[in-house]
Amino acid sequence: MKFEFLKNNPKGPYEGIALSDWTDWRWQLKNSLRTLSAFQKVYELSAEEERGFESSAGIFQIRSTPYYATLGSKTNPQDPIRLIQTPDYKETSVRFQDMLDPLGEESNSVNPRLVHRYPDRVLFLVTDFCSVYCRFCTRKRFTGSNQSFLNEDEYTKALDYIKSHTGIREVILSGGDPLTVSDDIIEDILKDLRRINHIEIIRIGSRMPVVNPYRVTDTLVQIFRKYKPIFFMTHFNHPKELTAESAEAVEKIVDNGTPVMNQMVLLNGINNHPAIIQALSRRLLSLRAKPYYMFQCDPSKGTDHLRTSIQDSLEIQRELWGNISGLAMPNFSIDIPHGGGKTAMVPNFLVERKGDVWNFKGFDGVHAEYIDPDTSVIRKPMDIDDYLEEWNSLKDAKNLNSL
Ligand SMILES: *Cc1c(COP(=O)(O)O)cnc(C)c1O
Ligand code: SF4
Repeated sequence: MKFEFLKNNPKGPYEGIALSDWTDWRWQLKNSLRTLSAFQKVYELSAEEERGFESSAGIFQIRSTPYYATLGSKTNPQDPIRLIQTPDYKETSVRFQDMLDPLGEESNSVNPRLVHRYPDRVLFLVTDFCSVYCRFCTRKRFTGSNQSFLNEDEYTKALDYIKSHTGIREVILSGGDPLTVSDDIIEDILKDLRRINHIEIIRIGSRMPVVNPYRVTDTLVQIFRKYKPIFFMTHFNHPKELTAESAEAVEKIVDNGTPVMNQMVLLNGINNHPAIIQALSRRLLSLRAKPYYMFQCDPSKGTDHLRTSIQDSLEIQRELWGNISGLAMPNFSIDIPHGGGKTAMVPNFLVERKGDVWNFKGFDGVHAEYIDPDTSVIRKPMDIDDYLEEWNSLKDAKNLNSL
């Protein structure tokens, strides 16, 4: 089946804007919506929504692009796009685990812009700026804090750290949104990283294909190609975000040799239903974007109303399991608080185990036994020593190389 992706041409207050402006990513940034009155021009805001603008102002920045804002329904406050980017007065009511740094990134920060939590990969926070501030952002301690692009000194320190830790094989450019900076700066960063011999993979995490797809220009994707292997991680949460423009952006990245993966968050009243996740996943897959993670929403400050329960998430995963292509199935993951790292939960298919006999019930109810072979025949593959050194250095990367 061919999915239909609809164009999002200027409408509402933007009717009459020249397409050459509208499709210019810098125009979208310059004309960002940041105030109640700007949003009032696009939506018929409820009194409750208006309250959100007053109460949330000091907590987390408000910003959206004309492109993204006009994807939302003019009249319905329950529209997913509205819920994702419009502040809510409930952001101020702290009831459960509200944390400014739910992933304990501060304590795993090796310098202000680098989070080194896993042995072989680091998170590099290039900028704190995003073109849309998602109300559920997990990095509210940092994003939108007006620090902008890292300064010369921070950059040198971050690069020196990566250079001197030979166990780091992968650098994840994140933020904020790393693609809010210019092509030249992106190219400089990629060039500097590629000069480091032990860096194998570069990841770029950006929400631009979702909120400002015009950012994905021919020049940009050719830069990605030049510094391959790069993996592009995007962040679609709802099928409604997949427009003709965002589909074009995703395909342009893939066509130019950079694989695209999607990370999403399960959000209460926005996408917490298997029918929505399957629609999102299958449409993404048709564009050759692989659904990668489906995250439990982190207990970030002011997100109680946006978080769904782990039980609800597990039921969604259970419904999807086996029913949609494995290619379209995202891994359900919970990034546990205090920097505990990502954990996974999968449906329990094991009914019971009696010694070597494992008794399963499959995704649609088939009962079957798997019987282990005689365990005395289990042996190591040949030439294991050829790979052991690499394996051990990977596991120890974080400790071995600390200065
Ligand atoms: C999520 C994350 C990564 C990447 O994890 P993968 O499972 O490889 O996608 C790396 N560093 C930090 C700090 C993270 O939170
Ligand atoms: S794009 Fe990512 S970093 Fe930026 S506000 Fe949204 S969730 Fe946070």
